Amino acid sequence: MNIPLSIPSINSEDIQNVTEVLESGLLIQGIKVETFEKQFLNYVKGNYAAATSNGTSTLHLALLGLGIEPGDEVIVPAFSFMATANVVELIGATPVFVDIDLETFNIDAKQITNKITERTKAIIPVHEFGLACDIEQVMIIARKHNLVVIEDAACAFGATFNGKAVGTFGNAGSYSFHPRKAITSGEGGILVVEDLEVYEKIKVLRNHGIANMNGRIEFVAPGFNYRLTDIQAALLIGQLSRFNTMLERRSDISRIYFNEIRSERVRLPVIPQFCNHAWQTFHLLMDDSVDRNKMISDLNANGIGSNYGAQCMPAQKFYQDKYQLDCDSLFPNAMKAYKSGLAIPMYGQLSDADALKVAHIINSLLEN
Ligand SMILES: *Cc1c(COP(=O)(O)O)cnc(C)c1O
Repeated sequence: MNIPLSIPSINSEDIQNVTEVLESGLLIQGIKVETFEKQFLNYVKGNYAAATSNGTSTLHLALLGLGIEPGDEVIVPAFSFMATANVVELIGATPVFVDIDLETFNIDAKQITNKITERTKAIIPVHEFGLACDIEQVMIIARKHNLVVIEDAACAFGATFNGKAVGTFGNAGSYSFHPRKAITSGEGGILVVEDLEVYEKIKVLRNHGIANMNGRIEFVAPGFNYRLTDIQAALLIGQLSRFNTMLERRSDISRIYFNEIRSERVRLPVIPQFCNHAWQTFHLLMDDSVDRNKMISDLNANGIGSNYGAQCMPAQKFYQDKYQLDCDSLFPNAMKAYKSGLAIPMYGQLSDADALKVAHIINSLLEN
């Protein structure tokens, strides 16, 4: 692949930072994880933060920490990466799917209220592809119905709504550091939490249920091992220090795509008022006349990486077997995005020349 879909931004300084951790002998629960948690909080301006093993364990801990129980209903968008719905199933609760707004690929806030029952306990809005959902509206609905909000901001570090970082509106905000996300430690995640009590509970569950009770170590819960290592935190600290520059570069690339991709058969991303876009993914929407899967293989033949953006979750096998929802009629926008969405190369090291090449090849493929 000449131009892959994505490449992580790891430089020699990051590698040096990792080497220092390895030489120190303190591989976990040393100073790096704590430093990263503080710096991350400072960047997003949240209250508390727990770094974890990935952006799925964060969601799992958030649901448990906020007291969501078996039998509860949790509202999720129909279109996201599967982890968003899987964590709800994992705790024995029921995901209730809401269609998306096709302009933003985010949950259609207007359709949430209709799905609320007396069993509804939480909403997990997703900020898909690095763009904030209508989080203000989601929060209004949640307050009115006394629901917990866990923001899945896995893709959206760097995204804001009305100048405020996503992940800091709800009771908890979850971020991922998978290699496809804005900054990466291979695997990794962080949960930003609003209340001290919930944060304390999450920290206990993250580390085998260990609590410090008046200086004594007690095992107070059947916890997990969802810790981040200092090796990983060292990688994140470096990337965080140059994150604004990384965001600017992605924004420059998006401008090239906006200027150069020209076809009646493709719709470029839409950025609503009050939002920036962190460009974790540049996601095109193809016209019905375009065979998206053929686009992926044609781009591949030209040495360009691309992929579909996310899944229509209730259309996947486990959810079809269990709930048998007719996705074409219930979630037409999620199905359209799932079938006709196309993520194209987006990463800091992508050169202007290569971004132009991607745009021009897309144009020419769409002429046929
Ligand atoms: C990537 C992603 C996750 C999962 O993150 P991992 O770190 O891979 O576990 C969850 N939700 C969304 C929306 C994602 O994009």
